[in-house]
Amino acid sequence: MKIIRSIKQMQRVAREIAAKGQTIGLVPTMGFLHEGHLSLIRKAKKEADIVITSIFVNPAQFAPTEDLDKYPRDEKGDIKRIGSAGSEIVFIPKAADIYPDDFQTWVTVADLTQTLEGESRPTHFRGVTTIVAKLFNITRPDVAVFGMKDYQQAVVLKQMLRDLGFPIKLIIAPTVREKGGLAMSSRNKYFTPEQRREALCLYYALRTAKAMVKSGETNCRRIEKEMRAVISGHCPTAKIDYIAFTDLNTLKPLEKTAQNTICSLAVRLFKVRLIDNMKLS
Ligand code: AMP
Repeated sequence: MKIIRSIKQMQRVAREIAAKGQTIGLVPTMGFLHEGHLSLIRKAKKEADIVITSIFVNPAQFAPTEDLDKYPRDEKGDIKRIGSAGSEIVFIPKAADIYPDDFQTWVTVADLTQTLEGESRPTHFRGVTTIVAKLFNITRPDVAVFGMKDYQQAVVLKQMLRDLGFPIKLIIAPTVREKGGLAMSSRNKYFTPEQRREALCLYYALRTAKAMVKSGETNCRRIEKEMRAVISGHCPTAKIDYIAFTDLNTLKPLEKTAQNTICSLAVRLFKVRLIDNMKLS
């Protein structure tokens, strides 16, 4: 497996791969890889000849109050995991090369970034779309794989692809969960085993929502009320940032569940902010 740290070298290698007629799959990550990330690499491997996995803790998508400095890192372990999942190349650019001192060009998607995560994290998506657009330009992928776990991110990126005409197929891969149902996340590392059990409240709330819809409930406010009760019952100190019911494709809010309703939520537990989602119908 090749480890590339220079942008110029990555661009050269990407051109060489394309010149050989091989396709490229890209899996962008912020490192500290878990099974969820590895599932994206395996999916990319099925879709493209050569898989590039990038590791870059993108400062532009963290607000000053967020956890950029303490975000978990394990470059050595990541490189091993990436290799064993079948990725041929790891791209690990330096922040100073991605954002040199005179950096001043940003990519923003207007409407889809105003709701859900965008309300709580107003500068987050601008950081995401800018880094992903830059990674696309550097690695020239045919296919890029993102996780359903960050569902709004995938919808925003799909819009960016359409609007800017990137000739890339975007694949959204399912959320990988730990045994009890907790969505895998690099941030789960912040929890003690007991806190990890309490963090299951997001999954339990989503399962409650799904079961209510299955048994005929369509009123989103009633479902939300039950979800809030599940969360506070399971983790009394949890602070719910939002629980939202939206259309899967447009992210428009819904009062009643319909076809393609997704429920997303963000909850702060023990100073860690977790997000999760589930398609309800
Ligand atoms: P991150 O390193 O958190 O920026 O995530 C990199 C990619 O992995 C994103 O496309 C995420 O949506 C995806 N991802 C994160 N957690 C999971 C998970 N539990 N299952 C599947 N994909 C995930």
